[in-house]
Amino acid sequence: MNKSLIVVLSFAVMTLSCTTSPTGKSQLQLVSESRMAQMGADAYEQLKEETPVTKDQQVTEYVNCVASAITAELEGDTTWEVSLFDDDKQVNAFALPGGKIGVYTGLLGVADNQDQLASVIGHEVGHVLARHGSARYSANLASQVGLLLGAVAIGESGSDNTGLAVAALGLGVQFGILLPYGRSHESEADGIGLDLMARAGFDPRGSVALWQNMSAEGGSQPPEFLSTHPSHETRIDDLNAGMDKALQTYEQAQAQGKKPQCG
Ligand SMILES: [Zn+2]
Repeated sequence: MNKSLIVVLSFAVMTLSCTTSPTGKSQLQLVSESRMAQMGADAYEQLKEETPVTKDQQVTEYVNCVASAITAELEGDTTWEVSLFDDDKQVNAFALPGGKIGVYTGLLGVADNQDQLASVIGHEVGHVLARHGSARYSANLASQVGLLLGAVAIGESGSDNTGLAVAALGLGVQFGILLPYGRSHESEADGIGLDLMARAGFDPRGSVALWQNMSAEGGSQPPEFLSTHPSHETRIDDLNAGMDKALQTYEQAQAQGKKPQCG
């Protein structure tokens, strides 16, 4: 294959694969949503094998209650699965394409109430809605010409090479979970999360309170949603900038009787 053909092919992939996120940002998407959903489900199964879910029924019900109030606000017919992993050291949570949510028990030591927990779950679901995992994965693919051509093959043949490509990139199960997102993804997920939690009837001011707790907590290892890019202050400022609108949404939700009582 000659060089110009590679350039043409690459350009075609870029052009055809740029999609628009919920807040109107254009991003490269080389992998179909259904394939991302499959990859998300596979990663989730691995995580469940590695970390046991908690046996504490009461806390499990609490987390399920908050998560289901959030996912009830989503369009589409995805059935969301929620797991509460028993690891008190991990102040973390994630959501994966294909409708998978994971919360670690360590998060519950920092997220003091249902509103704060809702702000984390809303944020993580926001990453999925905006297809950030897929965009990051696609950008990694595109950065390597050889793998870019591989992506063409994946996209066109529908064969099962995606797993191989992921392994080649060293992402494995870390895909979408352990790698930090960039600043623009973080701020977009914050915005989507703030709107989602308010629509579900959670007090959006809980998001700011959560970040204040995070700030006080410190911690050695930055979890996904504690991603290094925006400072806590920047994040809190951004959230406050969207607070008037979120409070209006929250009041409307309350007027519609959406008053989650998760605990
Ligand atoms: Zn995030």
